[in-house]
Amino acid sequence: MLIISQELPPIGTNAIALINTARSECIIIDAPQEAYNWAIKIARDHECEIVALILTHGHWDHIIDAHKFSTAGIQTFGHREDGQMFADPKIMMNYALPEIELLPVEINQWVQHGQHLDILGVQMEILHVPGHCPGNILVYLPCQEAAIVGDVIFSGSVGRYDLPGGDFEVLQQSIRKEVYSLPDSTTLYPGHGPTTTVGHEKVSNPFVRA
Ligand SMILES: [Zn+2]
Repeated sequence: MLIISQELPPIGTNAIALINTARSECIIIDAPQEAYNWAIKIARDHECEIVALILTHGHWDHIIDAHKFSTAGIQTFGHREDGQMFADPKIMMNYALPEIELLPVEINQWVQHGQHLDILGVQMEILHVPGHCPGNILVYLPCQEAAIVGDVIFSGSVGRYDLPGGDFEVLQQSIRKEVYSLPDSTTLYPGHGPTTTVGHEKVSNPFVRA
């Protein structure tokens, strides 16, 4: 299993590729601008097929390219609590860059807290971590000691909670209950900025202490 994180435009949002070379399959998590072309290149370089797109949440900078994956017939996963943003991303126009075209995203499978995804041939669990927005999920890969967390927590910071649907109390609870309860050695892949670990954030994150 390979995990590749790539920062993409227009505001430095990370897309993540999970690649199982043994099965010649990969999954893409989040779709900032240029994510589709990046994913196609990843698939070509690693001789694998893109079997799913998972969206950690519905914010505009994470879903710009999502419609391209749908058009290509790639199954798209998301949480129903962000359903309105997926269906009508223009409701985020006030927060987005004006030149960005936001097209609706068709979600093929709504995921739930505690759900085990049977794709890619690796253990993969979905955890619901609201607070940055209502439908933020993280993808936990216990065998890889990794979690792709969207905008719930960053290295030394946390996701904004002042946007519509955000709530600091809820965010704090999500981080304490679902992120800090993972093994300390777990590498966190946030939606913005560098990776970190659960152990490091528990002792040093200035916003939410363990
Ligand atoms: Zn966000």
